[in-house]
Amino acid sequence: MDVDKHADELASALGVDKEEVKEDLENLLQYSVPIDEAKQSVRRKHGGGGGGGDATPESLDVADLTTEHDNVTVTVRVLTKGTRSIRYQGEDITIREGEFADETGTVSYTAWQEFGFEPGDSITVGNAGVREWEGHPELNLGDSTSVALESDEVEVPYGIGGERDLIDLEPGDRGRTVEVNVVEVEERTIDGRDGETEILSGVIGDETGRLPFTDWDPHPEIETGESVRLADVYVREYRGAPSVNVSEFSTVEALDAPVTVTDSAPSMSIGDAVTAGGLFDVALSGNVIEVRDGSGLIERCPECNRAIQNGECRSHGDVEGVDDLRTKAILDDGTGTCTVILGRELTESIYGGDLDDARDAAREAMDREVVAEDIAAELVGDAYRARGSLSVDEYGANLNADAFEPVDEDPETAARDLLAELGVGA
Ligand SMILES: [Zn+2]
Repeated sequence: MDVDKHADELASALGVDKEEVKEDLENLLQYSVPIDEAKQSVRRKHGGGGGGGDATPESLDVADLTTEHDNVTVTVRVLTKGTRSIRYQGEDITIREGEFADETGTVSYTAWQEFGFEPGDSITVGNAGVREWEGHPELNLGDSTSVALESDEVEVPYGIGGERDLIDLEPGDRGRTVEVNVVEVEERTIDGRDGETEILSGVIGDETGRLPFTDWDPHPEIETGESVRLADVYVREYRGAPSVNVSEFSTVEALDAPVTVTDSAPSMSIGDAVTAGGLFDVALSGNVIEVRDGSGLIERCPECNRAIQNGECRSHGDVEGVDDLRTKAILDDGTGTCTVILGRELTESIYGGDLDDARDAAREAMDREVVAEDIAAELVGDAYRARGSLSVDEYGANLNADAFEPVDEDPETAARDLLAELGVGA
C-alpha cells in the first residue's frame, strides 16, 4: 500500500504537515487498522471530527456542498444509519455512518457520537464539518454539531432505509439490511485486536447473487440453510469483491419464509470482469488458448499444500511431495484473458481418469508431463464456460473454478462448417 500517497492526500486536505500525517497513519496501519478507518481517525485528530472553526456555518443545499466549506448547516432527510466500532489510540469508539439527502442530492456522514436520529427522520444539522472522503464531501458530526428534529418532512427522490439486494452492495456501503439464505458457514478462530476471537465466515445468497460474509460477533441464528434478515451490516472489499460484515451492532433475525438463492452467476466478458477487479461468483466464456506450466500431475507441499517443484517448497524447503491433479488454462474471449484454475475433480473429468491413472501414465512414459499434454490436447482450441471466484492482483487474473464445461457450438456455425467440409460452401 502506498502510505505516501494517502499521507499526501490527507495532509493537503487537512492543511497539516505531511510527515506528521504519515507517522500517524503508519502507527495505525501497524495495528492492522484498515486504511479507510486510519485516514478517518487521522482526519479527526487534525480537526476533522467535529465541525470546529469559528466561522458562522453556512446554510446549504446538499448539491452545493464542497470540500472548500469548513462547517455548514443542512436540512436533510436521514436515508441510512450504520453503527460500527473503530479503535483509535487504544480506545474503542462507536461511530454512526450513512447518508443524508435533500431534494438536490445525497451526502455521506460520520457521526462521532449518538445524536438519536434514525432513517426517515427530517433534521437540521448545524455546524457540521466538511471533509473530503474519496473525492466527495462528507459531513462530520462532532462535539460542536447540533441536530434538531424538523416537523416538516424533507421530501427526497431517494429510497429511505438500507434494504438492498446482494447484487447492489458495494464496498464502502454502511447501514445496509439484507434478507438472505446462509449457503455455508464455518466457525473460525482469528488473532483479532483483542487476542483470539471466534468469528463466523461463509457465503450468503439471495435471488440476485451470492457474497462472502464475516460475522465478527457470532449470532446463533446464522446457520447453514437458514434464512435470516441481517440489519445494519457494512460492506468491505475482499479480493476485489464486496464482502458483507456483520458486527456486534447488527441485528440478526430468523425468517419464516425461506429466501431463494439464485442458481446462476452473472455472465460477463472477461475484459469487463478483470476491469471490475474481482468478483465472488461469475461465469466467463471463451476459448482455451493454452494450458500453463504447473498443470497436470503436480506435487504439493504436505505442510502448506502449495504446489512445489523438484521436491522443494518455497517456505518449507525439502519435503516429500504429495501428488495432485490440477489444470491452469488460459481462457480468451477477445476482450481479455484469465487463468482458469481447475482442482482435482474438474481436472479428472477432463483428463478422463483419476490420480492413479495419471500416475500410471507418467510411469509408463517415464515423464510426468504426459498428463498435462493430454489435458492440453483435450482443451486447447475449444470453447468453455467457467464459473467461480475471480481474483485480480499483481500476478494476473485467476478464476478458481467451481464448474467448467464445454460451450455448445452455435448450431448455425456447426451447420456451415459441415457444409464447408462437404464442399458445398455456404
Ligand atoms: Zn510448504
